[in-house]
Amino acid sequence: MTIAAISTAVGEAGIGIVRISGKDALNIGNYIFEGNKVQELKDDHNRKLVYGHIVDRQNNQLIDEVLISYMKGPHTYTREDMVEVYCHGGIISVKKVLELILSNGARLAEPGEFTKRAFLNGRLDLSQSEAIIDMIRAKTDKSFEASLNQLEGSLSRKIKEIRNILLEMIAHVEVSIDFPDEDIEEVTYEDLEKSGNKVKEELEQLLSTAERGKILRDGLNTVILGKPNVGKSSLLNAVLRENRAIVTDIPGTTRDIIEEYVNIDGIPLRIIDTAGIRNTDDLVEQIGVDKAKETVEKADLIIAVFDASREMSDEDYEIIELIKDKKSIILLNKTDLPTKYDEAYLKSIINNREIITTSITSGVGVDLLERSIKNIFYSGEVEVYSDTIVTNVRHKNQLVKALQNINQAIKDIKGNVPIDCIEVDLKNCWENLGEISGDTIGEDILDKIFSEFCIGK
Ligand code: GDP
Ligand code: ZN
Repeated sequence: MTIAAISTAVGEAGIGIVRISGKDALNIGNYIFEGNKVQELKDDHNRKLVYGHIVDRQNNQLIDEVLISYMKGPHTYTREDMVEVYCHGGIISVKKVLELILSNGARLAEPGEFTKRAFLNGRLDLSQSEAIIDMIRAKTDKSFEASLNQLEGSLSRKIKEIRNILLEMIAHVEVSIDFPDEDIEEVTYEDLEKSGNKVKEELEQLLSTAERGKILRDGLNTVILGKPNVGKSSLLNAVLRENRAIVTDIPGTTRDIIEEYVNIDGIPLRIIDTAGIRNTDDLVEQIGVDKAKETVEKADLIIAVFDASREMSDEDYEIIELIKDKKSIILLNKTDLPTKYDEAYLKSIINNREIITTSITSGVGVDLLERSIKNIFYSGEVEVYSDTIVTNVRHKNQLVKALQNINQAIKDIKGNVPIDCIEVDLKNCWENLGEISGDTIGEDILDKIFSEFCIGK
């Protein structure tokens, strides 16, 4: 079945692209297209842009002035014949072009269906397909790079390497089971243990990137805490002014809290805008102590703001109590005003953590805050290209399972358990890893993954 969809963000862009994929793509394209010089798109127009108009032949109506391109399979995104129509006339005409295509034999693509076809036709493996979802959602350039890296197959490559080690182990074990008496390649427990440890190391290495990957993918959950009037909103605005991240709206996601994304040298922060929840932005006052604790609990990072121009108050002590076990950055703000705060005393009750003194309204100290954020999480800048970063929760879960399998296998190897028992764990490990690249995966999981895409991808 030939499918079609609008594949650009609706309403934003100057041009809109309608994409058709499937064996009727060329026929449908030719039927609705009237070229100025070109009568009909043929193979020799493959991958060329052709100028003309889209016409509704039934009503004899001109729809839009367009460029059209025919791409012959299998050298296309889906590996099928594809036609793309680049419309100029804004959203109305893009929709009309799509309707025209649909009334001439194509069906509206489901979310992710183009990518699903690319996967099913062998162009992408599963982790690469998922990278496309992540790219659509990427909050910052760095997360985009991580997804791109994955798309280019670095995770798949790594997984393949690990699976090859496992396969070799399984093969050796099988030989020993099937031909116990012949002295070909008799597997030793030492060999198995060595290979098992190698697998374990590689898996642990991949998993250790998962936390960083989560941050790159979803942003660091950051909460700004402080009693009223200390300068929280001013801080948020100062950070947003320089670092606001471009967030593409993903259809279908609901947001129950107001959040802002900022990008600090590639680290996406998801700042929970407590001011957005109610009118007042005193977290404790508006949502109660328990709820405030919960919000703090869930945060990856707290920025606690104190006001140097006023004496310390009970609210300040409450905040210090709330953040005592959390990764947090302490700001002493309004240092341009006569100070009533004893910095040394504050330092003593926050366990000698560093205090950043700021005057947010005059722009002093915001850069120190940003540096501090970077230091807390990376002690240096993230080098996304240097290694494979696991950014996807599903991948992480599969890695965890695979690690459990190999740990069990290693334990049994050390205990000289019969090798056919060990083989079961090795096979499970191999299969669990295979689900990351989609080599071993059920139809139901596939549907779930591809349904997360937006239409047109
Ligand atoms: P919030 O209630 O914590 O969000 O505080 P706001 O950001 O709304 O700031 C309260 C007031 O303090 C505003 O009038 C700000 O202009 C002022 N303010 C914020 N930071 C500073 C600062 O560093 N120095 C001075 N003098 N005033 C500040
Ligand atoms: Zn405020």
